[in-house]
Amino acid sequence: MPAVAKPLTFAQTVLAWYDQYGRHDLPWQHPASTYRVWISEIMLQQTQVATVIPYFERFIARFADVQTLAQAHRDEVLALWAGLGYYARARNLHQCAQVLCRDYGGEFPDSLEAVCALPGIGRSTGAAILSLSRNAPLAILDGNVKRVLARYHAVPGWPGQAAVTRQLWQLSEAHTPKQRTAHYNQAMMDLGATLCRRQPECPRCPLQSGCQAKQQGNPTDYPGRKPRQAKAKRQTQVILIEQAQSVLLQRRPPSGIWGGLWSLPECTPATDTKAWAREQLGIDIEPLDQAMPAIQHEFTHFTLTIHPVRARYVGSERLEDAQYQWYNRQTPQRLGLPAPIQKLLDQQE
Ligand code: SF4
Repeated sequence: MPAVAKPLTFAQTVLAWYDQYGRHDLPWQHPASTYRVWISEIMLQQTQVATVIPYFERFIARFADVQTLAQAHRDEVLALWAGLGYYARARNLHQCAQVLCRDYGGEFPDSLEAVCALPGIGRSTGAAILSLSRNAPLAILDGNVKRVLARYHAVPGWPGQAAVTRQLWQLSEAHTPKQRTAHYNQAMMDLGATLCRRQPECPRCPLQSGCQAKQQGNPTDYPGRKPRQAKAKRQTQVILIEQAQSVLLQRRPPSGIWGGLWSLPECTPATDTKAWAREQLGIDIEPLDQAMPAIQHEFTHFTLTIHPVRARYVGSERLEDAQYQWYNRQTPQRLGLPAPIQKLLDQQE
């Protein structure tokens, strides 16, 4: 009797698909050094590959290795990050480079525990860095992998709940092979990004015969949604203090939204800006009447409405403080500016 071929395991199926259809030409795969994979993994958090590629290429062209990044000024790191959002990632990246140079001779440690103790690196990112660059046999659980596994096993519940995440981690660990882990993890991310998307393309999926959500006919029910909460609304007022072609910028505090970036002086709406500027900035300004349209900016947890107002600098003091600088709109410096503030400055030219 002819031998009956054993069905492929989950991992073998995923790897066979990857060999034919996976993404093999991403810029951070050539070479897939730990440094390059790390930068890409941090950029890819909450951000799609197509958006990340030009940022990655510019970043690597300027900071070719961890030493160059560690020695750079934070402003330059933030400037090359501007537009990618989630700026804490850039601050942590810079700090992490300094820790790697100071404590590890510029190399990533081998243990997942030590990698996860570095600034800005969680379990899945740490495992992705070590597996994709060194083939370490470690499971990952990013958003794409969560979606594939939640559907394949019809795992109910929202992955933001600890019990659901725990179950998904167990499944990820159970499927992750000890060999070709780099390819398998890349394959799972590729599957989630190209086929098992929000609207899945099940007829093209290599996992369809075993996928429980597909069999139930409701893949989009998985993973479970976050319980709905109305998004908070916040208001703020920014002041464009003008002097000839320049506008006054103020550096934001290191933590909180847009932490460490350059922005416009900010106060609560309807504040008397003249008195506020005298008191808070120590300068004299003359408010200008021209009304400017409000701008809305979406953050993950709230919507910010920004009310811009204009004023003319009438003082004679020089702002010596490193927290301030004049931004010349005709010859703009390359600075880390939040996207809506950059837009506002560009509009005003
Ligand atoms: S069969 Fe459909 S739902 Fe299931 S893993 Fe594949 S693409 Fe996702």
